[in-house]
Amino acid sequence: MTCQESEQYIQEFVDDTLAGDELEAFLWHINNCKACYNEMETGYLLKEALTRLEDGTSFDLHSELKEKISLTEGYLRWRSIAAVGRRLVLTIAGLFLVLEMLYLYLNYL
Ligand SMILES: [Zn+2]
Repeated sequence: MTCQESEQYIQEFVDDTLAGDELEAFLWHINNCKACYNEMETGYLLKEALTRLEDGTSFDLHSELKEKISLTEGYLRWRSIAAVGRRLVLTIAGLFLVLEMLYLYLNYL
């Protein structure tokens, strides 16, 4: 597929009407051609922005950003709980090791 051909498919791709061999060839092209990828990206973002403006409901980047931040915070909280859990397991394992050594010491020495 040439760049000229690819340009003709951008709109179809953005509208989700591109399929089959053309879709495959188009995807291969934009993955290997920065210029056409950028063109497609611009078309996609434009369509998204227009769709959201028409909906009037979800064009709220401010809340989307807040949601993204809160999701990230949730992930970080979960990660710190997991770190505490790991430390606890290591401590218990260490305790068992000490008990086992004591047991061996008392029984065989
Ligand atoms: Zn191209």
